[in-house]
Amino acid sequence: MVAKTISYQQTKQMKKALSFILLSASTCLSAFGWGQEGHQAVGQVAKGLISDSTRAQIVKILGNDDLAAVATWADEVRAAARGQGPLTADPEAKQFNKTFPDNSAWHFVNLPLGAAQYTDGALGSATNDVVHAINNCVAALEGTPSKLSKVQALRLLVHFVGDIHQPLHVGTGYFEIDDVHNPVLITDPALAVGKPDDVGGNDLFFTASEELHAFWDVTLVKNVAKTADFTALAGVLSQNIDTTKWKDSGDHHVWAKTWAGDSVQQALQAYQPITFGAAEVDTHNRLRKISITKPASYEQDETTIVQTQLAKAGFHLAELLDNINWKN
Ligand SMILES: [Zn+2]
Repeated sequence: MVAKTISYQQTKQMKKALSFILLSASTCLSAFGWGQEGHQAVGQVAKGLISDSTRAQIVKILGNDDLAAVATWADEVRAAARGQGPLTADPEAKQFNKTFPDNSAWHFVNLPLGAAQYTDGALGSATNDVVHAINNCVAALEGTPSKLSKVQALRLLVHFVGDIHQPLHVGTGYFEIDDVHNPVLITDPALAVGKPDDVGGNDLFFTASEELHAFWDVTLVKNVAKTADFTALAGVLSQNIDTTKWKDSGDHHVWAKTWAGDSVQQALQAYQPITFGAAEVDTHNRLRKISITKPASYEQDETTIVQTQLAKAGFHLAELLDNINWKN
């Protein structure tokens, strides 16, 4: 039973990787997590908010304070493992993928949409999910012995704080598929146990080529400032930061859990307006695809959420960097 679960999870992850490859091929975009533009904008916003002493620590590690420039390394290293992208021949990327063969799992967590918070060991969580990945990066930067170098930990942290604010990297739809013509979304974590999930919207398709996850990663990000230029996007985000509402307090080692709890609520809002059509399952009754439709107001409404989540990510990243007990 355990072995079956693992192999099912692995299949889902391979599938996620495959849909990513197909998507990249069809759109010629670096559609990772928030997509390149979103991740770079998050780094750029944080760069403008960090304290002088934090900036000095970052310069010690990176040689400069260009957080946007390192924001997509996590995706590029993951792509290199599949022989894709700019780091294919990069020796560091090769070594990294050898040391951390599961690093593609670090970008997300598959919580049911009704999860009230992130809880260790609960359905969809994993010891190598994005919450744990963020905390491992923080630990490495704070001097805990780690196989991650300081440079790697910082690059990854910039990326994963972006990912954890992408609602579909945290929440996922679980389904009751008694009738393939009428799949039913399950949000209650207790009822979702053992049910198939759509891997953060990767199995949900508006059309043959447009799936929900990519719609959130790329299309909605581009909508925010009507541009593919991350500096222009960062400018818009920086002017819309709610420092009072988004401020974290207490121990910064539990903030990632708090952020995941918030993101899953945003994910519920991403799913609620959607109408689910026919499902496709394979011979083992595993979910392959569900056709979906969205109301006319969906794109506009969800762009507002994306803008908020990106700005929040930049703000939270700066907050976290300012709270790290740097050990060089
Ligand atoms: Zn990612």
